[in-house]
Amino acid sequence: MRSRWLKKDIARQRIDILFRNVLDTARYDPALAEKQAMLIKRISMRYRIRLPYEIRQLFCKRCKRLMIPGVTSRVRIGRSSIRAVRITCLHCNHVYRKIIPKERIEEIR
Ligand SMILES: [Zn+2]
Repeated sequence: MRSRWLKKDIARQRIDILFRNVLDTARYDPALAEKQAMLIKRISMRYRIRLPYEIRQLFCKRCKRLMIPGVTSRVRIGRSSIRAVRITCLHCNHVYRKIIPKERIEEIR
């Protein structure tokens, strides 16, 4: 029982490391980043780990591929409301609308 918990813990750490790698790699090698992202999915399924929101939002809900802002997805701030952004997946052109918390608006700009 204990070793099982330990394995899950190691899997969580691996996902965390991979996630940080994906963000870096995506800038110069999107194909490699996508492989790393697939690995994250495989590990999470094998150990039944629910991925945190910041990782889940990287995957397109429609085509399940990796969306990296500025690389494989396009982020646009809505015209009517400054608090809404439109995120377009450049693989399948699916558009997401997302409301961003006020304190994060400055970061995005
Ligand atoms: Zn997509």
